[in-house]
Amino acid sequence: TTTGGARYLAGLNPEQRDAVETLDGPVLVLAGAGTGKTRVLTTRIAHILSQGRARPGEILSVTFTNKAAREMKTRLAEMLGQAVEGMPWLGTFHAIAGRILRSHAELVQLKSNFTVLDVDDQIRLLKQLLQAENIDDKRWPARMLAGLIDGWKNRGLSPSQVPSGEAAVFGNGKGGKLYTSYQERLKILNAADFGDLLLENIRLFRENPDVLRQYQTRFKFILVDEYQDTNVAQYLWLRLLSQAPSSLTPATSAAVPSPLVGEGGSVERSETEPGEGSVSADRDPSPASLRSAPSPTRGEGRDISAATTPPKNICCVGDDDQSIYGWRGAEVDNILRFEHDFPGAKVIRLERNYRSTGHILAAASHLITHNEGRLGKTLRTEDVEGEKVTVTGAWDSEEEARGIGEEIEELQRKGEHLNDIAILVRASYQMREFEDRFVTLGLPYRVIGGPRFYERAEIRDALAYLRVINSPADDLAFERIVNVPKRGLGDAAVQMLHDHARKRRIPLFEAARAVVETDELKPKARGSLRQLILQFERWRAQREVTPHTELAEIVLDESGYTEMWQKDRSADAAGRLDNLKELIRSMEEFENLHGFLEHISLVMDREGAADEEAVSLMTLHSAKGLEFDNVFLPGWEEGLFPSQRTLDEQGRAGLEEERRLAHVGLTRARRRAKLYFATNRRIHGTWTTTIPSRFLDELPADSVEITESKGGSGWGGAGGYGPSRFDNVESFGSSYATPGWQRAQARRPGARGPSEGGFKEEQSPFGGRDPFGGGGFGGNFG
Ligand code: ATP
Ligand code: MG
Repeated sequence: TTTGGARYLAGLNPEQRDAVETLDGPVLVLAGAGTGKTRVLTTRIAHILSQGRARPGEILSVTFTNKAAREMKTRLAEMLGQAVEGMPWLGTFHAIAGRILRSHAELVQLKSNFTVLDVDDQIRLLKQLLQAENIDDKRWPARMLAGLIDGWKNRGLSPSQVPSGEAAVFGNGKGGKLYTSYQERLKILNAADFGDLLLENIRLFRENPDVLRQYQTRFKFILVDEYQDTNVAQYLWLRLLSQAPSSLTPATSAAVPSPLVGEGGSVERSETEPGEGSVSADRDPSPASLRSAPSPTRGEGRDISAATTPPKNICCVGDDDQSIYGWRGAEVDNILRFEHDFPGAKVIRLERNYRSTGHILAAASHLITHNEGRLGKTLRTEDVEGEKVTVTGAWDSEEEARGIGEEIEELQRKGEHLNDIAILVRASYQMREFEDRFVTLGLPYRVIGGPRFYERAEIRDALAYLRVINSPADDLAFERIVNVPKRGLGDAAVQMLHDHARKRRIPLFEAARAVVETDELKPKARGSLRQLILQFERWRAQREVTPHTELAEIVLDESGYTEMWQKDRSADAAGRLDNLKELIRSMEEFENLHGFLEHISLVMDREGAADEEAVSLMTLHSAKGLEFDNVFLPGWEEGLFPSQRTLDEQGRAGLEEERRLAHVGLTRARRRAKLYFATNRRIHGTWTTTIPSRFLDELPADSVEITESKGGSGWGGAGGYGPSRFDNVESFGSSYATPGWQRAQARRPGARGPSEGGFKEEQSPFGGRDPFGGGGFGGNFG
């Protein structure tokens, strides 16, 4: 090879280099945190390109978050020292699957401008279906159904594939039927939910082998980061793409239409039932039934293509100790079975951690040894021992936030940059305390993957207007704004539009057009509905000639929406107007309205003003793959971390996943890791006394230091777990289980914690779109 001197290879260790240079056949890099897995992937792309083995458009690289994809792009450009001509397909599973789906939408009964629903829309739609079925949504909440459907989609199951017993658990046996009609409704609305992006893409490939072959031919190299967290749907999708194209009719990559260009409606609308298609004909054994079976047998069921053709150049990297998405259907088995799935795979292990100092690595490594089900890996560092991991007790969460605030200011005085500081929480509600504190201190911070700007009511309203312009069939958007601002189109009018739409199976907007021609509405309502329709038609026409940012301003003005807030006397109205201005600013980055809305629907992690120095605040789940010099880890208490839910459940699986999450948290730190626990915490409005997390007991004493809270008030009275527990640092030092903590542990059952339900867990790097909790689902999308 001629790559000996390539600049981007310099500095790699021999194993990393092997992983970069082994371009032919399947490669698995199975290695611990901070060993350079992501760096290997990026370098591998640079290598493929500079060796001329593929053009950018022929490389498919899957990351776990949009943020990770952006970072990879930046690093790639740096490595190659110039902008790459054309870009690899670099993004999350959902972003890429969505992009493919859009190019062939007609083949799955969608139009190329289909809308991607967010959780709110999803819930609203499901509520309507529950109502239509006369199901009491107090007893059977729409949110629960959303969770079930999402779970099925994560497992690659279309309505016909859901095991009937499982479908029966909801709504007195109506779960399956509801899933079916939900999918039908989505088709009528020209919409897909998040899970559909993958599921419908899989269906597209299965029902259209020629389309699949195009992409199999196109993608000469496939790379996957965080492989340990792929779910069944993602796995199935990868398996389809990673088969070599059938050799009978080798398509040329030139034949593949640019995915950004639609197919111009040349494809006949298929006659298959929406949501059903022919998937059932070749359906897989249910992954659910395979769940419990031992790995080797499971494998056969999941080999979805005739695996006679050799798999191509796929490189997956991951770490079984960082698998933290089991609750969302991720299957760590995917990584354990790689060699089985991809025969002849080369497995490369990396053992040198380049990220963390000795003490931090020792703490993280020791903690994870308490898990049983793991492959076991060696991790070493050649870095200095560095500062010990600190553990600090605080009286309550307020003192915890104050303590961390002071530590951050101290770090600043020492010359640390705010960008190099992160706070990683277990549950998103923990953030509020820090946000309040930082606002008080005037300390800039950004929330990553959390409650987002685009989720604010006024932003959602404005977006709804734009969505209706973009896609007239977007009923949920239309319904949202039809009477905002108030136009005399109340519930009764909306209900009438619904009836019309349902009877004729047409979108609401169409129904509205028809209704204004009748006298079914009172004259005033009819007048304002007619005006609204005319306005939308005018805006739609204007769209062709007016820049999208300008159009947005026009729409907000002419619709009376801006005025509605201008006249509003409430305290937050001014802020909302500012937000609307900010929304328009944010549109400038996009070429057109469609691109902007596409971005909104896929965006999962938001950052503050990109150039401002700020502390990062995020959940542990969102922190995957990232690194910071200084990491604060608050809330290490039983019932919070590990979460109450995992403590309540049978078996160790949940608890082990929590421990992996703790391991992920610690391994984000380069130079300082600072753990906190509060002895009192308010949960759902009620004060509870808490017990320090068992994970604290599981840290190696030699690498840990107990410190006093800098929060001010001291914690002398901390419910029996006060400073006395740490008076004797020696005793902590002699064993990693302190007597004090052991006592606390002995009292654990019933002695503490939220009495029921436990914490609402943070789910989502998915930007809070997860229907299971914290306000929903949406992707660290990917
Ligand atoms: P995680 O499991 O947390 O995702 P990872 O295995 O992907 O970690 P990277 O993020 O790729 O690890 O690398 C961790 C850090 O180590 C990065 O700052 C990276 O630049 C650095 N690094 C990796 N390999 C080397 C190397 N050979 N020499 C110097 N620094 C390296
Ligand atoms: Mg990584």
